Amino acid sequence: MSSIVKIKTIEHLTHDVLKIVAEKPKELSYSPGQAVDVSINKSGWEKELRAFTFTSLPEDDHIEFNIKTYPSHNGVTNQLLTLKTGDELIIGDVFGDISYKGEGIFIAGGAGITPFLAILRNLEKSKSIGHSKLLFANKTKADIIQEEGFKKMLGNNFVNILSDEQLEGYEHGFISAEVIKKHSAPNLKYYYLCGPPPMMTAVEKHLATLGVANEFIVREAF
Ligand SMILES: Cc1cc2nc3c(=O)[nH]c(=O)nc-3n(C[C@H](O)[C@H](O)[C@H](O)COP(=O)(O)OP(=O)(O)OC[C@H]3O[C@@H](n4cnc5c(N)ncnc54)[C@H](O)[C@@H]3O)c2cc1C
Repeated sequence: MSSIVKIKTIEHLTHDVLKIVAEKPKELSYSPGQAVDVSINKSGWEKELRAFTFTSLPEDDHIEFNIKTYPSHNGVTNQLLTLKTGDELIIGDVFGDISYKGEGIFIAGGAGITPFLAILRNLEKSKSIGHSKLLFANKTKADIIQEEGFKKMLGNNFVNILSDEQLEGYEHGFISAEVIKKHSAPNLKYYYLCGPPPMMTAVEKHLATLGVANEFIVREAF
């Protein structure tokens, strides 16, 4: 079943990431970390479904998405850049494999942060983030989604890794086995991964090198 909802607000979070807040469909139910098929209710775009993750919480009276846009694809995310308050989205089926299992290390690349944003917001609300850490990989500081929010939520347990920029207080390079090992701890049993396929492949290799068993890896490819 799908529902048509109006956009309440649409704004840039970073140079290429949009934050869209829309009406919540009446019958919608989802859990933090899940995604939904979205299309634009505009002639020619209604059937172009793309997956986006709720960054709102299930009990909120609205839904929110943080969406990285790709003007070069000339696809749905580029069209989203033309939308304004009052324009409509079509919200379809809810799905997604990432859910919270227990304290661990969240490893995200770029827009792959969105399921973790929802999960961590939910944990923050119930004051149960515990010792979990977030390793967030981006090209530059300007690409980091919700940097201030994560700092507030996680303090020193928020670690940024920048591949194309060297800055004090930020790790430099790609996520490596060494970086993961440095932040590992016996009480952080789970490894949550979400990002583009090349990053996922690389991180899974690192986790295998570090001897992390498959049952402790929770993943979703973007
Ligand atoms: C479960 C799940 C949840 C997700 N949640 C989020 C989220 O919360 N936020 C978010 O930002 N993203 C999320 N994504 C990723 C998101 O779905 C894609 O970024 C989005 O579908 C891209 O749509 P698009 O139409 O702009 O481009 P695409 O569908 O990638 O491309 C449209 C067309 O552009 C062309 N094209 C494709 N790749 C390229 C390229 N590299 N260069 C040039 N042209 C190209 C092709 O002809 C293609 O048909 C999620 C993905 C999954 C699987």
